[in-house]
Amino acid sequence: MTIRGIGASAGIALGKAFVLPTWEWEISDQPIDVNDMAREFERLYAGIRSSKMELKNIKDELTQVIGQEESNIFDAHMAILDDPVFMNEVQGIIRRQYKAAEAAVKEAIEKFANMFDLLEDQYMKERAMDIKDVGNRLIKHLIGAPEVKLPDDNQPFVLVAKELTPSQWANLNPDHVLGVVTMAGGPTSHTAIMARTLGIPYVLGLEGKLNQPIQTGDFLIIDGETGDLHINPPQNIINRYIQKKQKFDQNKEKLKELIGVPAKTADGQTVRLEANINSVKELDIAIRTGACGVGLFRTEYIYMDRSQMPSEEEQTQIYRQAVEKLGNKPLTIRTLDIGGDKRPEYLEFPQEDNPFLGYRAIRISLDQTELFKTQLRAVLRASRYGKIKLMYPMVSSVDEVRRANRLLEEAKQELRERNIPFDEQIEVGLTIEVPAAAMIADALAKEVQFFSIGTNDLIQYVLAVDRMNEHIAHMYDPYHPAVLRVLKQIADAAHQANIGIAICGEMAGDARAVPIWLGLGIHELSMAVQSILPVKERILSTSASVCKEWIGDLLQCGTSREILERLNEMESCAAAHRGSA
Ligand code: PEP
Ligand code: MG
Repeated sequence: MTIRGIGASAGIALGKAFVLPTWEWEISDQPIDVNDMAREFERLYAGIRSSKMELKNIKDELTQVIGQEESNIFDAHMAILDDPVFMNEVQGIIRRQYKAAEAAVKEAIEKFANMFDLLEDQYMKERAMDIKDVGNRLIKHLIGAPEVKLPDDNQPFVLVAKELTPSQWANLNPDHVLGVVTMAGGPTSHTAIMARTLGIPYVLGLEGKLNQPIQTGDFLIIDGETGDLHINPPQNIINRYIQKKQKFDQNKEKLKELIGVPAKTADGQTVRLEANINSVKELDIAIRTGACGVGLFRTEYIYMDRSQMPSEEEQTQIYRQAVEKLGNKPLTIRTLDIGGDKRPEYLEFPQEDNPFLGYRAIRISLDQTELFKTQLRAVLRASRYGKIKLMYPMVSSVDEVRRANRLLEEAKQELRERNIPFDEQIEVGLTIEVPAAAMIADALAKEVQFFSIGTNDLIQYVLAVDRMNEHIAHMYDPYHPAVLRVLKQIADAAHQANIGIAICGEMAGDARAVPIWLGLGIHELSMAVQSILPVKERILSTSASVCKEWIGDLLQCGTSREILERLNEMESCAAAHRGSA
């Protein structure tokens, strides 16, 4: 039986399941004697000390395996143990209800986790998981239960969990984990980010889709691209996936031969292939894959999973480290794109019915100007160490760009007054991802030096299809004729104004779209690192001049099916050309 979840990290895994037990213990609700209250407080404080020590050790170990940034989540966990609101709640339950420390912690976790869980916001739901995780760790110390450990028999396995908390992830040996399956979770969860960073296939979102629970020892197949899961499949399916995995692995190996090959079309036009990164750590793999720069650094991840805002100094160090790693290759830093599903806990957000059409990205930056200028000063300070480009997200009017640029001027002036050098010529651009921006692209082009098209959001807003809603996922169609026409309008405006034009949404990493970019005269594509080589392969066999001839035809198509058929035809012609060459 095939079950379809959500593919969160590409790759195929076949192997036996190990089902991670949830850490839930029977806890007595017996009231304590009033004379024992002081002892309960002592036990609580001792439990907090042991939990913090354990978290610190986990963090140190994990930093070696997956790096500093992903392991920062444990600082957030330690901060929960210091949080006066959480701790007051626990102490209050002991004092008022005469409960033992572990029972009080359990009740407090439930209260806070339920509160967060009720919120629609995916990010807050994930924070509910952090509270449960940290509270359960504390309970574990209070009742002296052993840590839930994975089997240590050197047998690789597919890990199955209801939800996988960051600290459970910390206990994994990535060499033994073939793939991961979770019932809950979202593609923006920490586990999804960790899985992608480590290249582990990951399928999530199976809640309510299984007729019976997966058991340890069941044979599983997961496809982290399609989201498919097979439980104890027949041999013919196993054989099919063994082949698919072999193909996937062989293809991955073969594509590596292209790393040093320049990305040139069959008729000699150069295309810049850059990487999208969420953290500095991802740069190593981007450079090893031959990216010629970073076209999108999503800086909001620097602001997440922490209890306070990153300082100017801290951000300067991060951006400096990134640009120095890149040598003379450009680093495009997108200013804070928070709001929507990304809400740092130390910032206040209004209650919103439509957070994706709400208080987010540049709108927050223009409202909380000190927050924005702190980031701008950090970007400017790092700009003397390499080639940095600055990019504003979610712009929808000329006025917004002018206000952002005025704040940039103020940030520059503040640095001059502090005698801090920076790149006076720093290039400024914006992402075109709101239909309004596309429609006034000619006016916006007068304000900046480059555009980068964020197709992820642009498609959802042009088609009015929520990019995170699995019920209408089939309507999220990058090849809809409306999308193609909008892309043309933006590209034409950029060319007419003679400014840079790039693509930084997921569509840039879809090899099928290569003829569209070449036809529209777009020669800069920024994408997830894993997509760079497949896209390069397609570029090598495609003629830009042929694409220019075909683009008019594509723009006449009334349906995405027709567009995809034309693109297929073009690919067949290119393949025939390769064959005859
Ligand atoms: C986009 O919207 O296409 C984009 C690149 O940004 P994000 O996916 O971070 O919204
Ligand atoms: Mg976007």
